[in-house]
Amino acid sequence: MKAKILVSACLLGQPVRYNGRAMTLESELLESWKTQGMVVPLCPEVAAGLATPRPPAEIEPEESAESVVGGQARIFDANGEDVTEPFLQGARIALDTARAHGCGYALLTDGSPSCGSSFIYSGRHDGVRRQGQGVTASMLSRAGIKVFAQHQIRELGALLSS
Ligand code: SF4
Repeated sequence: MKAKILVSACLLGQPVRYNGRAMTLESELLESWKTQGMVVPLCPEVAAGLATPRPPAEIEPEESAESVVGGQARIFDANGEDVTEPFLQGARIALDTARAHGCGYALLTDGSPSCGSSFIYSGRHDGVRRQGQGVTASMLSRAGIKVFAQHQIRELGALLSS
């Protein structure tokens, strides 16, 4: 049976990012996976009912996705609105979707408070990066789904062909 991969919808050309744009990933590997029916597209934030465009949001400073999932930290948008609940709901929808489709892998957009897997932003809305995950990436990896950022697509490809 073919492996299934949950993929951030913005990487697939869907204009669902906070700024109303896509972040299309041009990749022969991804095209091949799409052709083989291996790709399950999802935007956790849109799935949770957030509008597009929407104010950018960040996990609060010094805190992690794990703390947000555990209820000890929050996510705020650039207007100071607490958007923790829809972000958590999006992560739960992503996990449910991955399980429903039998996805053992996820290819997610780095830097996002939902989809980030190697870096996120400071929480001060100052454009500064820090190491960390978004809440969807965190929830998926804790459930045993192997999460890759878009710049790691070759590593995922190598794993799938091994
Ligand atoms: S939540 Fe994920 S899929 Fe949706 S726009 Fe942000 S990075 Fe892309």
